[in-house]
Amino acid sequence: MEPRLLLHLTDEQREIQRVARDFAHREIAPYSRDWDRDGHFERSLVAKFGELGFLGMLIPEQYDGLGLDTATYLVALEEIATVDAAVAILMGVHNSLPTQMILRWGTEDQKQRFLRPMARGEYLGAFALSEPEAGSDAASLSTQAVRDGDDWIITGTKAWVSHGDAADVIIVMARTDTPDARHGAKGIGAFIVTPDLPGFKVGKHEDKMGMRASPTVQLSLEEMRVPGDRALGDIHRGFVYALQSLDNGRLGIAAQSIGIARAAFEHSVKYAGERRQFGAAIRDYEAIQFKLADMSTRVTASRALLHATAAAKDRGERITQFSSMSKLLASETAMWVTTQAVQIFGGYGYVTDYPVERLFRDAKVTEIYEGTSEIQRLVIARELYSTT
Ligand SMILES: Cc1cc2nc3c(=O)[nH]c(=O)nc-3n(C[C@H](O)[C@H](O)[C@H](O)COP(=O)(O)OP(=O)(O)OC[C@H]3O[C@@H](n4cnc5c(N)ncnc54)[C@H](O)[C@@H]3O)c2cc1C
Repeated sequence: MEPRLLLHLTDEQREIQRVARDFAHREIAPYSRDWDRDGHFERSLVAKFGELGFLGMLIPEQYDGLGLDTATYLVALEEIATVDAAVAILMGVHNSLPTQMILRWGTEDQKQRFLRPMARGEYLGAFALSEPEAGSDAASLSTQAVRDGDDWIITGTKAWVSHGDAADVIIVMARTDTPDARHGAKGIGAFIVTPDLPGFKVGKHEDKMGMRASPTVQLSLEEMRVPGDRALGDIHRGFVYALQSLDNGRLGIAAQSIGIARAAFEHSVKYAGERRQFGAAIRDYEAIQFKLADMSTRVTASRALLHATAAAKDRGERITQFSSMSKLLASETAMWVTTQAVQIFGGYGYVTDYPVERLFRDAKVTEIYEGTSEIQRLVIARELYSTT
């Protein structure tokens, strides 16, 4: 079904949307159900995304990226997420977080060494901020980086790292202040970590409710020796960099959520036309029509807010509040719309024969990662007071 976007897309954006949709239907859709069931991460997609330029969408051409604007990237991401939100994690994390951090705060040498191959899809990027005891309160993280000559020795456990077992470059946040002189958010550095570093170890693989085709792992860093030239920017400002990057990351989660919600809506429209009870298609009943109307309205409103925010970002405006609003609205829309979709499918919505139960499971985490809904509300409320 052709999505009714309410957006004016340029010819280039339409073309990228078409490429993303064709790719998703050809290379992902036939396998999604199996990957979800088996918890399988399809590593070959990284190179395929790379060939399309989809892993360097926001990276300038001088570093082998496509140098596109944010809206175009989000249009492509929504298409991938509509088919498989777990696969969209790979594209979203890589484009929004590690590559943007290196682009913005990396040295020229770091850009040549890491960003260029990341833009080409030769290296997959990941982002390691959370820890077992530091989630919403990420500034309380305890992974410690200690100077040893030119190098850093990093020790600690990072939690919930999306594709942390498959990534070639991981941006790891670690404390650069000392236990007796803590500086909170200002005593944390960001480091470019590669799995070949001595002391890098992949720990527990999480067995998840949804997004099962995206691996989520702990990383055990045991006196991991990191060369000094892997520190990103100011060694005490890594947490600030991470937070600023999450403003972008949340736009990606919003696009992913809209993709999930849109898929649930489209499956529901089709099913409501086919399923007959009491001698009529269930779409003839007002109770079902109202659900479909509300689903469509919420998806469209979420997308409109997201794209207005993307435009503000590309104009160089500060988007912290709108980015949180976009993520909050879209993720709660995804959860609400998928819940309605399961209801419209009745018992068939509760079994794996139809896709809406996967969409329902996948939707939940969008209200949790890159800041829970509660944290988004805190950010929005804080911004209200700082701007009025
Ligand atoms: C599948 C998955 C992938 C992830 N990928 C990554 C990744 O790639 N990199 C990474 O760094 N992290 C990742 N995360 C971690 C994710 O960002 C955290 O799970 C999230 O920030 C919440 O932290 P927590 O799980 O520790 O929950 P907690 O912070 O313990 O929160 C528990 C509950 O308390 C609420 N709460 C906490 N503080 C407050 C408050 N002040 N006021 C009101 N309510 C509050 C929360 O909203 C939540 O409902 C991922 C998580 C998942 C599940």
